[in-house]
Amino acid sequence: MNNYTKILLEEHEMPTQWYNIIPDLPEPPPPPLHPGTREVATADDLAPLFPKALIEQEMSAERYIDIPGPVLDVYRLWRPSPLYRARNLEKMLDTPAKIFFKYEGVSPAGSHKPNTAVPQVYYNALEGVKKLTTETGAGQWGSSLSFACAQFGLSCEVWQVAASFRAKPYRRTMMEIWGGKVYPSPSDRTEFGRSLLAQNPDHPGSLGIAISEAVSEAAADPDTRYALGSVLNHVLLHQTIIGEEALLQLAKVGETPDVLVGCTGGGSNFGGLAFPFLREKLAGRMNPTIRCVEPAACPTLTRGQYRYDFGDTAGLTPLMKMHTLGHDFIPDTIHAGGLRYHGMAPLVSHVYELGLAEAIAIPQMECFDAAVKFARCEGIVPAPEPTHAIAAAVREALACKESGEEKVILTALCGHGHLDLAAYDSYLHGTMSDTDVTEAEIAAAMATIPQ
Ligand SMILES: *Cc1c(COP(=O)(O)O)cnc(C)c1O
Repeated sequence: MNNYTKILLEEHEMPTQWYNIIPDLPEPPPPPLHPGTREVATADDLAPLFPKALIEQEMSAERYIDIPGPVLDVYRLWRPSPLYRARNLEKMLDTPAKIFFKYEGVSPAGSHKPNTAVPQVYYNALEGVKKLTTETGAGQWGSSLSFACAQFGLSCEVWQVAASFRAKPYRRTMMEIWGGKVYPSPSDRTEFGRSLLAQNPDHPGSLGIAISEAVSEAAADPDTRYALGSVLNHVLLHQTIIGEEALLQLAKVGETPDVLVGCTGGGSNFGGLAFPFLREKLAGRMNPTIRCVEPAACPTLTRGQYRYDFGDTAGLTPLMKMHTLGHDFIPDTIHAGGLRYHGMAPLVSHVYELGLAEAIAIPQMECFDAAVKFARCEGIVPAPEPTHAIAAAVREALACKESGEEKVILTALCGHGHLDLAAYDSYLHGTMSDTDVTEAEIAAAMATIPQ
């Protein structure tokens, strides 16, 4: 099997367990703290927001967790997802490297997000929850949760970051097709939203603000819970099906990665792809370099600090030890809306602190340049977020051209960009630019982090 382009798994080869990396790490990540008392947060503290099953997964020390049958049934609508070898891109770059990408754009919502939306809704449905609230940046998570709620008969309310609500009307339509209700954030539906609109009626919003609104709505109603599309341990856990499948697929063609790159917003597609490979690395079975790629306009790992901070802007969530730019940091309205988050998954932050992963930041023009080359070679139009991963893969492939090394590069193309064409339009017609974050902007947002 030497002239393959895509490597497929049969339905019956789909993994039936998620992988929890915590028991395999040299030390466990620091626990979340209660936002009021600053004591270690307990399962009871999280109960108003999440169902018991997800809280157990959040705190689990089990290495493998069975994927429930009804979740596997929904996964089978699009999983296993294909792994591609980007042969045309390799040729165009004239590189001796082999570039593989795991394509998650085949899901109903067009990204990796349904991998966690489906189990999250399933566990809520089991415990009798009637409604879920959430935030969405680029609209990918809101669509995924709306889709999953339609599968299990729950209602869904989504606070969409105002900048993206205005720029991406078709994402809202998609959420509405699946039965979701969508509000721009900040909204006039919550006290926090109203206070921000009073300061600035054209507020662009941020993920942190939208989370505050969705959390406060869920906490006020016993039949409603909240769902988060990234950052938390259970979200990264559900996403490990990406890496588990990719391991099986690479084994089919007898390859192991030398370099693994993934884009990091809250860290879930990166963790989902990387953690099963990190398990293999820690066990001494392979030795890939593992690299996070973030936008230069929201450089959480490369320029933030590793501190306890809130997950949202109003300070309603538990404090999490993570790389953060400060919960008041409002990133520039770059096109990769899904990467505009002030923090990073505590697990990804911890793995980075332990030196098990590296991080780089890339400005958006270089990302779109790489994505357009990629689309012309491989056909698929990437979502703005994974353009960062593609740009990093291209950098690595060009370095191989210089050095003559035949490295195997693996990345996740975690979503397609069919609803992000306005971003490509601005790139192709010269209205896109790179923005820089100043040290003063970061320092100002860092100043409000609890001591
Ligand atoms: C949401 C999203 C991201 C960012 O979230 P992570 O948790 O870092 O994966 C990246 N890419 C796409 C396509 C997304 O929808």
